[in-house]
Amino acid sequence: MEAFKAVRGKKKSFRMSISKSHVGGKDNPLMQYVLNHSLREHPVLKSLRLRTMQDSWNFMMVPCEQAQFMANLAKLIQAKKALEIGVYTGYNTLNMALSLPEDGAVVACDISEEYTNIGKPFWKEAGVEHKIDLRIQPALQTLDELLSSGQAETFDFVFIDADKVNYDNYYEKSLLLLRKGGIVAIDNVLWNGRVLNPSPNDADTVAIDKLNKKLHRDIRVTLSMLTVGDGLTLAVKL
Ligand code: SAM
Ligand code: CA
Repeated sequence: MEAFKAVRGKKKSFRMSISKSHVGGKDNPLMQYVLNHSLREHPVLKSLRLRTMQDSWNFMMVPCEQAQFMANLAKLIQAKKALEIGVYTGYNTLNMALSLPEDGAVVACDISEEYTNIGKPFWKEAGVEHKIDLRIQPALQTLDELLSSGQAETFDFVFIDADKVNYDNYYEKSLLLLRKGGIVAIDNVLWNGRVLNPSPNDADTVAIDKLNKKLHRDIRVTLSMLTVGDGLTLAVKL
């Protein structure tokens, strides 16, 4: 009985654990199969991933298979204008810039020069730095500036992946910035399983869970919550 409980416990924690390819996922043979049979990583993107793995905050990087999926979605809707809220070393920013057409652009929001400086030489090496408009300041300020400069309803794709307590603010402003049919992708919506039992003292989990509940009822969008990575919600603006 004890052994059975242990196996059940293991199964449960496996399901709730992060299945990011670069955080433990590489030990999972099925994840390895997925990567071996689908990943098409640009050589400079691979170099940036390997460089990012040397950083102690590397668990923050978007999984490469998720970045590829989001770039596919952006292509599907013929995106030209993307917004990334939370850049870190810019793996996803670079992937998005590579997949956008020559007249496309990504507005990339972060507060850290230290992290984004890691990515910049790779953006240049890949020949797409001209497509990346990096704004170093609190993302809410950048979103307000975009709105006040007349860019409401002009974005095709938004990726929300910065501080979790501001997720709802990012979502509301992103909806204003998106055109109809545009997509907002919200990362870490499962928060490593903590959304199942949010502690009132854990502001990040409370904010994510609150937004998840709000999105479920939000008639302004169509909705999918995917179990890729640490949970990815896709909302399409109606
Ligand atoms: N999307 C990135 C990727 O693809 O690898 C990962 C982003 S990482 C999870 C979160 C980032 O949000 C960090 O680089 C952090 O500096 C940034 N951040 C935190 N608070 C912020 C804020 N108020 N405004 C803008 N960026 C913020
Ligand atoms: Ca994330």
